[in-house]
Amino acid sequence: MLHIVDLQSSTPPLPSHEPIIPVIQSALPPFEEYVEEIRSLWESKWLTNNGTKHQQLEQALKEYLKVEQVALFTNGHLALEAAIEALGLTGEVITTPFTFASTTHALIRKGLTPVFGDIRADNYTLDASKLERLITSKTSAILPVHVYGNVCDVEAIEAIAKKHHLKVIYDAAHTFGVTVNGRGIGTFGDVSMFSFHATKVFHTIEGGALTFNDPALKPRFERLKNFGITGPETVKEPGGNAKMNEFQAAMGLCNLRRIDEVMAKRKRVREQYDASLKGIPGIRVLEYQPGVHPNHSYYPIVFTDAVNRRDEMETLLATKGVLTRKYFYPLVTDYDWMENRFASRRTPVAQQIADRVLTLPLYPDLTPTDVTRICDILRERMMTR
Ligand SMILES: *Cc1c(COP(=O)(O)O)cnc(C)c1O
Repeated sequence: MLHIVDLQSSTPPLPSHEPIIPVIQSALPPFEEYVEEIRSLWESKWLTNNGTKHQQLEQALKEYLKVEQVALFTNGHLALEAAIEALGLTGEVITTPFTFASTTHALIRKGLTPVFGDIRADNYTLDASKLERLITSKTSAILPVHVYGNVCDVEAIEAIAKKHHLKVIYDAAHTFGVTVNGRGIGTFGDVSMFSFHATKVFHTIEGGALTFNDPALKPRFERLKNFGITGPETVKEPGGNAKMNEFQAAMGLCNLRRIDEVMAKRKRVREQYDASLKGIPGIRVLEYQPGVHPNHSYYPIVFTDAVNRRDEMETLLATKGVLTRKYFYPLVTDYDWMENRFASRRTPVAQQIADRVLTLPLYPDLTPTDVTRICDILRERMMTR
């Protein structure tokens, strides 16, 4: 998958005398703990199809994420496709080009037309003040992304959606555990999609979930992820297969036990970066959002000098063994398959951020020494020009 290939090994081996620092490293439970967790599967021989681990994880996530309803999936992308199908979206959907491929590809694969809105210059989420002008008689929904764990302008988006009778699906892949004034991020909009991919803050190796308030959606999601089957002799609709298996759910149960520790370690890394990088001219870091309990999922920096130094710094860091990622570059609208299909939609802020952003290494076991090493490289070069 693009994520893990690109995030962990996109940069070719380079001459470096220091140990390589990857951009992301998956958090794993102690080996014995996972083995203990899956032991019962050898007794029950129940490996998938809503087993015990699956049920336990669903319940535990309902509490942890502070949401009404949860449906688990084999990955976040298929969960998103199921949400689009269940809400019966048609025609055009307003979304952001500053995201991972999955968001737009889900729309295209479900036969919809993405309409790209620009993003905010401060937190890189969809700019709600520019949304209404994109609405046409064909618009059925808005699909914003809580990018890097930054919370979208949920109130303004809700007001616009209400006024124009639009559905809202949030791509919440980056916001596991985030709350807004104590409210679970997954309770906003009609449905939110979480990804539990190996590179995310919380993972089930591959995995994902939908969260929602309307209990009527739950049986629909169960059908869509299991061939439309509702009983031994009843198949209600042409569903696909997107079930989370017991080994994935077991990994989730182990990782959830340790999530507070993971968050605390991430917080420490972020705070060290903040303290070291904030004073460096030409580098902008993410600000905290008022009322938002963050999850410290990514550490993107934006190079603000008139001459764009992003690519130069990426190469410099790589030669010193520090792997970073231009996350998100290119914009979805610049993908090869797009072939300028949506070129008439200009999103200058998104373009500028994509051209200037660099995501630094951030994972729980990144040491203070590693962070110092990374910041020293950045500071030294940025201060001598
Ligand atoms: C990871 C991710 C997805 C897709 O999730 P998978 O579980 O990998 O299918 C979707 N959107 C965004 C923004 C992501 O980062």
